[in-house]
Amino acid sequence: QHFKCKEEEYHKTILVGDSGVGKTSLLFHFETGKFEPRKFSATVGIGFTNKIVNVAGSDVRLQIWDTAGQERFRSITHAYYRDAHALLLLYEIGNRRTFENTRAWLCEIYEYADSSICILLIGNKCDSTVREVTTEEGEQLASEYGIEFVETSAKTGQNVEAAFNIISRILLEAT
Ligand code: GDP
Ligand code: MG
Repeated sequence: QHFKCKEEEYHKTILVGDSGVGKTSLLFHFETGKFEPRKFSATVGIGFTNKIVNVAGSDVRLQIWDTAGQERFRSITHAYYRDAHALLLLYEIGNRRTFENTRAWLCEIYEYADSSICILLIGNKCDSTVREVTTEEGEQLASEYGIEFVETSAKTGQNVEAAFNIISRILLEAT
């Protein structure tokens, strides 16, 4: 079976979405519990982080990959998607364009990623005072594609753990 991992193997999990939506910050918060607004330049990502998430008594091993900023030039390569079991697709709730671009991202995902990839749609920066995308719109897009949805803040930490718990649960159900 495709998703069967050996005990010590990790599920490759990738972050995608427009530049600036908070991919690196989300992963950084998940890794360290911190938010550091000026720590990352758009071209320096984290690389990858290994984490073990416990879902209802089962350990799910995630190897979470951040981009190195290639999304600025729409040049994420096929290699980034290769062998990915799970994917977090981010937009920013205060920037409508990043939400509209998620459809183009989904096209690319369906073109390059494995057809059985587990996808979670994330509306990040839910701490923003300016909102251009409603929660209902996020939910509606997700249900159109048959994927799950959550709003997060890499700044306050709201739903950061929850997002990785959801994707781990989806992976576990797919195993
Ligand atoms: P990436 O290009 O998708 O990796 O985005 P970054 O993680 O580099 O974040 C881009 C900018 O948005 C940085 O200035 C971050 O500090 C900021 N940022 C990221 N996540 C959040 C969030 O949840 N809330 C707020 N208010 N700012 C955020
Ligand atoms: Mg980044």
